[in-house]
Amino acid sequence: MAEKKNYYDVLGVSKTASQDEIKSAYRKLAKQYHPDFHPGDAAAAEKFKEINEANEVLSDEGKRKQYDYELEHPGMGGNPFGGGFSGGFSGSGFSGFEDIFNSMFGGGFGGGPRAAATPRGADIRQTINLSFLDAIKGCSKTVSYTRNQPCAACSGTGARGGTAFQKCPRCGGSGKVKYQQDTIFGRTIQVGVCPDCNGLGKKILDKCPDCKGKGFVRGDTTFTVNIPAGVDSDSSLIKRGYGQAAGGGGESGDLYIYFRIEPHKMLRREDRDLYVTVPISYRTAVLGGKIKVPGIDNALELTIPEGTASGTKFTLRGRGVKTVNGTGNLYVTVEIDIPSRLSREQAKKLQDYEDSVPLRSCDNMTKYANNLSAVYGEKVEKQ
Ligand SMILES: [Zn+2]
Ligand SMILES: [Zn+2]
Repeated sequence: MAEKKNYYDVLGVSKTASQDEIKSAYRKLAKQYHPDFHPGDAAAAEKFKEINEANEVLSDEGKRKQYDYELEHPGMGGNPFGGGFSGGFSGSGFSGFEDIFNSMFGGGFGGGPRAAATPRGADIRQTINLSFLDAIKGCSKTVSYTRNQPCAACSGTGARGGTAFQKCPRCGGSGKVKYQQDTIFGRTIQVGVCPDCNGLGKKILDKCPDCKGKGFVRGDTTFTVNIPAGVDSDSSLIKRGYGQAAGGGGESGDLYIYFRIEPHKMLRREDRDLYVTVPISYRTAVLGGKIKVPGIDNALELTIPEGTASGTKFTLRGRGVKTVNGTGNLYVTVEIDIPSRLSREQAKKLQDYEDSVPLRSCDNMTKYANNLSAVYGEKVEKQ
């Protein structure tokens, strides 16, 4: 198993960093390496995973203490953090999302040093399409995909009945062997992966007939995922153990679920806030009136006061998206809709109307006319 990177180095913080420093470093890096910004970039995806793993540990004082201890006491039974040290991941502050731990293979944190460095399956990435309102209100979706599933007949061990294996005689089940190396500094003891069992710590005596000793079988995985209200296109869920099975009794990878959110016909979303532009008539703008605006569950009534200018923005507090971090607002911008065609008679009425309106009742036009003649006089260049 590859050596894990130091979690402090991953986040670029010092060993004495405060929780605030860790949080801010994590947020910055998570944004930078989010897979949505690097589609198909395996290196960025790996880095993103590392960042989340480091944050999972360092943001939890208990786990961090344990980790610090392990850092200072290396060699206590190999790499106790191998693979099993990762908890839930959250997108934009949605901690405690869907964090289902597949306990089939154990290997979670807190079990102490692991006996051997067992292999870990690859992670899988799935994108779910959500309607604009489903993302805001939350919903259930069925996820279906094909993967290497742990073989049920042998509990993923690859050995018949899950029992037909023995401890590796060479490494005694630890999966590691020590060897001496002479260097200019003297003789050192190195620890490496056992070549007899490839670090598994055991040898299969009789292969499982279902999976032919691989420990996994190809199959469809289908389950229902509850998507909490307020997810956004930069949110993601993780379902532990739903990635590729590792075989050899190893731990399955994880399933990362991302969202593609369809646009709404009228509403636009920015984090918790919703925005909409609504056309109003000239009459409503001048005299005031009630208009209907799109809300999340229903159309909402909004009162337009008299003398409202085109482009005025109204705030409907608490009518935005409900998230764990609070509820946003709905911002309604009104724009006067100009009729595209008028009859001769209507045009005449409009002209009569305008002739009847004293210029001084239109403050902005008066101000503008005064400024213009102050600067240019009354001369106008035709073009
Ligand atoms: Zn061995
Ligand atoms: Zn099997």
